[in-house]
Amino acid sequence: MKNESVLILGAGVAGMEASLLLAAAGRKVHLVEKEPMIGGQLIKFEEVYPHMECSTCMVAPQQQAVLQNGNIEIHYLSALEKLEGSAGAFKASVKKKARYVSLANCIGCGACYDPCPVSLENEFEEGLAAARKAIAVPCAGALPNVPAIDPRHCLFLNGKDTQCRACKDACVFDAVQFEDKDETAVLDVGAVVVATGFGLLDVKQNPQYGYGEGKNVYTALEFERLFASNGPTGGNLTLRNGQTPKTVGIVHCVGRSELGYCSGVCCMYSVKFSRFLKHKLPDVRIREFHTDLCVPGKAYQKFFEKTRSEGVEFVRAETVKIASKESRLQVLYQNGGRGEEVFEADMVILSPAMIPAAGAKELAEVLGIKLDAKGFFAGRPGSLSPVETPVEGIFVIGCAEGPKDIPESVAQAAAAVGKILSLIPHEAN
Ligand SMILES: Cc1cc2nc3c(=O)[nH]c(=O)nc-3n(C[C@H](O)[C@H](O)[C@H](O)COP(=O)(O)OP(=O)(O)OC[C@H]3O[C@@H](n4cnc5c(N)ncnc54)[C@H](O)[C@@H]3O)c2cc1C
Repeated sequence: MKNESVLILGAGVAGMEASLLLAAAGRKVHLVEKEPMIGGQLIKFEEVYPHMECSTCMVAPQQQAVLQNGNIEIHYLSALEKLEGSAGAFKASVKKKARYVSLANCIGCGACYDPCPVSLENEFEEGLAAARKAIAVPCAGALPNVPAIDPRHCLFLNGKDTQCRACKDACVFDAVQFEDKDETAVLDVGAVVVATGFGLLDVKQNPQYGYGEGKNVYTALEFERLFASNGPTGGNLTLRNGQTPKTVGIVHCVGRSELGYCSGVCCMYSVKFSRFLKHKLPDVRIREFHTDLCVPGKAYQKFFEKTRSEGVEFVRAETVKIASKESRLQVLYQNGGRGEEVFEADMVILSPAMIPAAGAKELAEVLGIKLDAKGFFAGRPGSLSPVETPVEGIFVIGCAEGPKDIPESVAQAAAAVGKILSLIPHEAN
């Protein structure tokens, strides 16, 4: 008899959607997430294109449904270490790092943060916010709202101060558990879904874009956090000196020529940034620099046209360089045979290519499946379905398979669930 349980790797929008659909069909789901919370990249965004819906309003009900579903077991801070067997009878070893905070006891009051003497860079806020502590939730509104202790920096756990119990003393619910240990769970499942998402190209690799500390050159994810009402500036779009930008340049296609592919999403999120800017600063002048403009489908076309009709300038630029001139920035760009042109800007936003998630290569080796030439998980050659891999019973969805937007990621989740339910139909005992 085939095992009907499913292992899902990654709790972003794609992995959560697949988990909920399988759970609704009565399947047991093991949802493995490397972070101490669920939600993926989407929880960093204030609004999503093309309809500019509130991102949290869309994703929080999905997160809550996952957290409350009795058929879904979430393995936080976890990673797949070994996979044996075949479709219908896989054995998966999942390594789970200790959280050091009890999910059952913690009520999320946050009383443990302030007493912690350690200050660390806030990665979730892209380094733009005040430091976080060694015990912290990754971001405001994290689900579950339960912190984790970073054992590399906790003075008690790394042995630098074995007397430090600041967080434990501050917790009246006895939720801090220094005695927690890393564990390995061995799970029997019939199918595996890879939903490990994407990363963004590191813009520091391209010095021509002038990215550097203290400058008003921001990456796309930094700008998402600047605009977010729960972000480092409470949603105020200001320059680093506190002034309001009057001119902004948005550079599409960062890294496209080196990587040799179009992510297909950056043009649309760049247009979204113009909408953000126009919403908060109606008089701002914006120029977007693109190579090919990727505006697929009827909803996106309308979204783009509306933005352009509000005065946002779109220019084709084959090469772009950013230079600093006194306190301002210069976007130096070239198109065709024309000479170099200059756009003076107070702020520049870089829209980098989407790249495979960190660790994709190692995970592919564990799964015994291949990556494509660009490092994303490869589909089955000759298959009409993009979610199948060459190994029967292993599926890949969302940005793990290649850059894509939210609707396409969610559609792939549904496609993989359909494949699993027909590959392993329910058998009555
Ligand atoms: C700046 C920016 C703005 C965007 N704005 C929009 C928008 O407005 N509208 C829109 O439609 N799309 C937008 N997108 C695209 C959107 O972010 C993606 O389509 C969506 O996040 C894909 O979801 P996912 O679940 O595939 O991946 P992710 O959101 O990346 O989630 C993957 C999850 O897997 C986890 N994970 C990674 N590796 C492992 C591992 N080895 N083991 C276990 N877990 C792992 C991660 O921690 C994460 O939780 C934007 C993208 C960017 C870069």
